[in-house]
Amino acid sequence: MSKMSSLFNTKKKKIYSLDDEKFYLAMKENCSFHYEHNKKYKELLDGFGFKPSDINSYEDLAKIPFIPTLYFKHHNLLSLKNSKYIVKATSSGTSGQNVSIIGFTLGDLLRGWNMVRRVFSYHHLWSLKPHRYIIFGYQPHKGNDKAIAKTAWGFTFVTPALSKDYAIRWVDGGYKVDLDNLEKKLIKYSKGKAPVRTLGFPAYTYFLLEQMKAKGIKLKLPKGSILSLGGGWKSFYKEKVDKQTFYDLAYEVLGIDDKHIFEFFGAVEHPILYTDCRYHHFHIPNYARVIIRDVETLEPVKPGQPGLINLLTPMCLGAPLLSVMTDDIGILHEETCPCGEKSMYLEILGRSGIEDIKTCAAGAEDLLKGEKS
Ligand SMILES: [Zn+2]
Repeated sequence: MSKMSSLFNTKKKKIYSLDDEKFYLAMKENCSFHYEHNKKYKELLDGFGFKPSDINSYEDLAKIPFIPTLYFKHHNLLSLKNSKYIVKATSSGTSGQNVSIIGFTLGDLLRGWNMVRRVFSYHHLWSLKPHRYIIFGYQPHKGNDKAIAKTAWGFTFVTPALSKDYAIRWVDGGYKVDLDNLEKKLIKYSKGKAPVRTLGFPAYTYFLLEQMKAKGIKLKLPKGSILSLGGGWKSFYKEKVDKQTFYDLAYEVLGIDDKHIFEFFGAVEHPILYTDCRYHHFHIPNYARVIIRDVETLEPVKPGQPGLINLLTPMCLGAPLLSVMTDDIGILHEETCPCGEKSMYLEILGRSGIEDIKTCAAGAEDLLKGEKS
């Protein structure tokens, strides 16, 4: 088994016990692969005077030239022939904007599956009990390659599904936001026995809860129901409420306490599944590392200091995703978390303010505005 694949076979109990040696060796293997197979990546590294053989310790990982997520939006960086890809996914973006196209090979998907199955089992998310799914996101449609739509759809297979309802529905050849439909469904399902799982943009979830609260609706969703959030707050930062306010609202309107609220984090350019712990912290899993860099100098900063989030993983052969630079600002925390996990946790503070990058939630926001006006 390759060093990369072996990293993604980390035992369930150990996913948050970081093995730095194993990680850097898998990164070196991944870097060598792209250097040999991807002309553009080789040119990029050569331009920085960097070679995969320069990676000789865990500390050397910070020296790998990182690729900004913006770069993936303007350049085709696929490393292999088209026939090698099983799935292609695009990053979020409204029509007419540049999006990243990332291809995944069978091996990439298997590593991804090994990760997802262990992370979900670690957080007790698998269940054989049939659930009702409420997705605060896009209804799948054959023209929609957005990774976020694929991920949300994939999530509805974590348990058997009795029903799937979507906030952004495909109607008459276009996407339309329909929160009222979800409100009706939640009221109906609260009277049944099957647990409900929600997944999707926190902002939509929040808007619907606010709307229901304003109407004085108070439900108690069936036992075992879970509220899960993914896709980030994106352009809703100005609306962002603190987590406690959100948890209080969810309890008041749906009767779900914060032990049953999960948040996920990931990106098409960094397809790693981060799941928050009982104390709602995103611990770094063994499949990835995070380097926080000074906004001006781009040098790594100490834990506790804010900076640009640089994400590392050796998961993919399809595209050189080993070190990508986001335009998000974050902090790595080394304080001990009461959940007992030793790995540091990432706090995402928001966007660094690069205006020309709009995200899926921005697109979703436009849809929502269109609906309300
Ligand atoms: Zn924790």
